[in-house]
Amino acid sequence: MQDCIFCKIINKEIPAEVVYENETVLVFKEIHPAAPVHLLLIPKKHIPTFFDLQQEDAGLLGDVQLVAAELGRKLGLEKGFRLISNCNQDGGQLVMHIHYHLMAGRPLHWPPG
Ligand code: 5GP
Ligand code: ZN
Repeated sequence: MQDCIFCKIINKEIPAEVVYENETVLVFKEIHPAAPVHLLLIPKKHIPTFFDLQQEDAGLLGDVQLVAAELGRKLGLEKGFRLISNCNQDGGQLVMHIHYHLMAGRPLHWPPG
């Protein structure tokens, strides 16, 4: 999608610190980290919000979560991590391309603000 900042990162039109990539998923470092480990996991397919998901996208979201588990192991995050996705205005979604924040490296408070 032309005006989507995350699609531009996928297409290497703007730089990002990529830490993992496979056929369907890209992972890069959050530009304003809120935890010692703060990554953004995105499907390469442009889907604006959860409300835009189709049944055929179910496997894609599974792929993202499997990558989260793989990175959790690779990065030694056995103490735990948080995987969170903001949806629309009240959810605090700023970038309209579905993404998951993977945060770790400190105890994370619950509930979030
Ligand atoms: P949201 O609020 O939509 O869940 O989170 C979007 C996140 O993307 C924000 O935390 C923001 O800091 C991050 N972000 C926005 N633009 C860029 C960028 O160009 N590069 C990186 N690495 N992160 C970005
Ligand atoms: Zn996009």
